[in-house]
Amino acid sequence: MTLDIQPNKNIDSPIGRFAPSPTGALHFGSLIAATASYLAAKQDPDGKWLLRIEDVDTQREQDGASQSIIETLESFGFMWDGEILYQSHQNEKYQAALDSISNHIYPCSCTRKYLQSLSATDTYGYIYPGICRNGINNPDIENPSIRVKTISEEICFQDLCQPDIFCQDIEHEIGDFILKRRDGLYAYQLAVVVDDALQGINQVVRGSDILDNTPRQIYLQRLLGYPQPEYLHFPTAVTANGKKLSKQNHSPAISTENNSRIQKIETLLAALEFLGQNPPNSSDFESLDDLWQWAFQHWKNDNIPKVMTKFTAFE
Ligand code: GLU
Repeated sequence: MTLDIQPNKNIDSPIGRFAPSPTGALHFGSLIAATASYLAAKQDPDGKWLLRIEDVDTQREQDGASQSIIETLESFGFMWDGEILYQSHQNEKYQAALDSISNHIYPCSCTRKYLQSLSATDTYGYIYPGICRNGINNPDIENPSIRVKTISEEICFQDLCQPDIFCQDIEHEIGDFILKRRDGLYAYQLAVVVDDALQGINQVVRGSDILDNTPRQIYLQRLLGYPQPEYLHFPTAVTANGKKLSKQNHSPAISTENNSRIQKIETLLAALEFLGQNPPNSSDFESLDDLWQWAFQHWKNDNIPKVMTKFTAFE
């Protein structure tokens, strides 16, 4: 199978995306991600914004979450371009990408438990010490995972929001990472890189909690011969106790029922305020459409606070 990679026209109009994992309903943190990625792309009249449901990890998926996320986005007036892409339909593409870098990948029988029992841990969890690089250590294992060989070289990128260049030596800080899991599921790192390239994404706008995944994604793009998008990691929303808004931390879902036009306008204004855009008061807007028109005209990537986390009282 050949992969039809879309040319990535960084100098042309942005092609952005929102890529939620359907592990629960949309919460305020994910609404911020949708809003930032939408406006960064759609402030340009020729910009495109694609919606991708990242349901590659079927075990973490929650029944009905994809539909609920889509309905919530619709009810807030988000308009995506083209068809929604579901990662669960992309397995052949992921396998073709793996096949194309067969010299750089190897099977691995090490279980997570075994690796955690070794002492090499740091902020990213355990560092994979390359045990299976020269051959699988347990040949009886039925379904090995597939890892990519990394190299000791700093991979750096300049984010469009975070002020400092971010560098990572993947071999020393992460180790050879998994592209296909022992249960047969393709890993997020591979899926996101393949889909960004297949969809011609040239602008990735997402929360700072994923910033340290980016060098791994750039490394894969280089191996696969894909273009590198621009990256903008906006501050992650945290509550008073410093916890990030997330499904794991049980952040409340944004309800679409009993949510009036005014409440929706206020929720979107809170997202814009969080993103440093200084929107006017809700009384200035008759409709969600008015608000979006204001936002398309006034959005500035540069106004987003250049910090990794930011407090929000809005939940
Ligand atoms: N699917 C990821 C999430 O819901 C986002 C991944 C990305 O934007 O690269 O957190």
